[in-house]
Amino acid sequence: MGNIDLHLHTTASDGVMTPSEIVRYAKAKGLQAIAITDHDTIEGLEEGLSEGRRIDFEVIPGIEISAEHSPGSMHLLGFFINMHHPLLNERLGYLQRARAERNPKMVEKLNRLGIHVTYEEVLKASGGGQVGRPHFAEVLVEKGYARSFQEAFDRFLKKGALAYVEKFRFTAKESIHFINEAKGVAVLAHPNTLNMKGYSELENLILQLVKQGLKGIEVYYPEHNATDVAQYKSLAERYGLLVTGGTDYHGMEKNGLDIGVGRGGMKIPYSIIESLKAARSRS
Ligand code: AMP
Ligand code: ZN
Ligand code: FE
Ligand code: FE
Repeated sequence: MGNIDLHLHTTASDGVMTPSEIVRYAKAKGLQAIAITDHDTIEGLEEGLSEGRRIDFEVIPGIEISAEHSPGSMHLLGFFINMHHPLLNERLGYLQRARAERNPKMVEKLNRLGIHVTYEEVLKASGGGQVGRPHFAEVLVEKGYARSFQEAFDRFLKKGALAYVEKFRFTAKESIHFINEAKGVAVLAHPNTLNMKGYSELENLILQLVKQGLKGIEVYYPEHNATDVAQYKSLAERYGLLVTGGTDYHGMEKNGLDIGVGRGGMKIPYSIIESLKAARSRS
């Protein structure tokens, strides 16, 4: 059996490839299946699934929701979501409106810093999909206000930086609830970004999420080291959670990261999808 990638972004959010392109790319790279998991939007799913059918390649409808959490960030993946579910669509509509309010405020903040960036430029960088901070970063680099994408984030865009503006997030409980309602399998993405202080703090949080309906943990992820992987795996075992994995590939190859291939030769086996499917039919 082949390998898979269960964490990918397209132009529907802040990825570089269109949904069709990423599906064709995954097949060309020899993967057996992928999940499309754009931030807070399902706009890329229809196209991705239809391209998958056209070229006979398995595409799982997914999503990645940014939930309320501090001091780090919490992302929740939903696999096999029913993209026509009314509650899911209502909640995502709310998030879209929250972004539409936040983004012009970030432009204002930049302008007040003497940085001449317009909302039109950021919209253009987004290519018509949902607008996010990576599109701001692109414009800042292009116009010479930052030397690199990372510098743009560090100076202006990351939490607490000069042009950062908070955007509304649902709580983990609310996010897991609407993923479950839409028949999705809710999975905690890249636990390392939670910035938990040690194992027991992470364990307590996971315990709480499990009570709220969490079904899995993203164990395999390019930024997880061997210790992280072992720790997340043991938590998954202890709480009967599924193990998933993905690269979070956004279409920009960096440091050996590519679709389906993390750093250090990380590969994700197809058997993970079989466990996901089994879990889905149980619920
Ligand atoms: P947004 O959806 O506007 O909140 O932007 C979130 C996206 O910005 C994430 O998915 C990352 O791709 C990127 N991002 C967030 N924080 C950072 C950071 N500190 N450095 C680089 N990229 C980041
Ligand atoms: Zn992203
Ligand atoms: Fe994420
Ligand atoms: Fe992601």
